[in-house]
Amino acid sequence: MCNLHTEGTKYGCGHYVITRKVSKIDCNNPYCALSRAHRNPCHGCMHDHYYGPDASETITARTSEFCDECHAYWKVGAGRGRGRIPSVLLHHRIVVFLFAVLNSLLLIAAFDTSDALLHMLAHV
Ligand SMILES: [Zn+2]
Ligand SMILES: [Zn+2]
Ligand SMILES: [Zn+2]
Repeated sequence: MCNLHTEGTKYGCGHYVITRKVSKIDCNNPYCALSRAHRNPCHGCMHDHYYGPDASETITARTSEFCDECHAYWKVGAGRGRGRIPSVLLHHRIVVFLFAVLNSLLLIAAFDTSDALLHMLAHV
């Protein structure tokens, strides 16, 4: 999974939003769609299209505003009661975390399958 050196804005909600991708650290993994080691074109590509956690985050601007995403939650949540925002934020973070875990599990699964295939081929 490739990682990025980024610059971004730190919002009052605690989120860091990337404004500029400074450089990329290539993982050289053919199973990563973002790597230069990945074949291109890759038909029906099931490989990883997501970057790993940022290699570095440089805060170039700070604001007390909420980020766009949280601003949308705020608007939606306002009709249902203002006390709900923190739990919505927490939920949002858990979803992002689970997604990252799922991503890495899929990557491991891709490795295991290719190993098994290589073994099979070696014994034919
Ligand atoms: Zn990668
Ligand atoms: Zn692919
Ligand atoms: Zn936010």
